[in-house]
Amino acid sequence: MFQQAVTDGCTNADGTCTSEDHLHIGDYVNYTNPTSGEWTVLAGELGGTYAQTYLVSQNQLNWRVLGIEGTGNNAYIKIIAGSHMKKSKADKSGVDEENPYLYMKGAKAYLNAINQLNKICAMYKNETLAVKAESVNIDDINKITGVTTDDLKRQYNLDQFDGNKNYGESYSFSNQYTPTSWTAEPRVTTTVSGNVEGYYYSINEPAREGAPYVSVSNARINNMLFNDEELSSGKQYWLASVGTYSNPYFASFAVAGVGKKYGIVFVAFDNLFHANDRLGG
Ligand SMILES: [Zn+2]
Repeated sequence: MFQQAVTDGCTNADGTCTSEDHLHIGDYVNYTNPTSGEWTVLAGELGGTYAQTYLVSQNQLNWRVLGIEGTGNNAYIKIIAGSHMKKSKADKSGVDEENPYLYMKGAKAYLNAINQLNKICAMYKNETLAVKAESVNIDDINKITGVTTDDLKRQYNLDQFDGNKNYGESYSFSNQYTPTSWTAEPRVTTTVSGNVEGYYYSINEPAREGAPYVSVSNARINNMLFNDEELSSGKQYWLASVGTYSNPYFASFAVAGVGKKYGIVFVAFDNLFHANDRLGG
């Protein structure tokens, strides 16, 4: 049905398509949640000082179509939760409405985020309906925004306008820390080198006058992915992808996410650890 809608050129951007032969990005689907499941991000695992527990029973989510992967008989539909999971109170008596979102910072977050995010999401695998259950990553979002090639990542990357190296450029600094060398015992400095894997771009409006931005015209996609997310308040969603940035002096290590800052939505690798130890952690 997804492919039929593509063939027919229908994205249902305004939500008026009534074809029963179509499935579009943003459509709600009848995916049955497992009834139980529990995952605890241990204190320290993602840099926070307390344990963070997620219970499926307290998060019976609704689901929307995110896209399709594969071709022919190997094609499968990707779905995404229609709302945020909320963590449990310490006594698990209910969700923690005061502080519901996953917290992470520093070197440990860079090292463990992908694994922990995937562990949380794996709880939602319905054994009869799903091939796998894992966290959305930045490639899933890029497929929708169209920023899928190295050239486009370089073109839209806003970090280059702050005097920093662009996506794909190499960096090498001696006597600094990687997340691994920072968390080693004993802690050691090392040569920090590689190619910049991080980038960030804004959605639908420029971050500053004249800056490039990515247009997403489909209103239902905007509503599903880019509405009501706040970077600063923690109401963003993390993506199971990590990357590095570099300025002329040191590299930074980041986990990807989507959220709004200063009223503008960004798809971003969000800095969590600086190799010269500005953020530590
Ligand atoms: Zn349609």
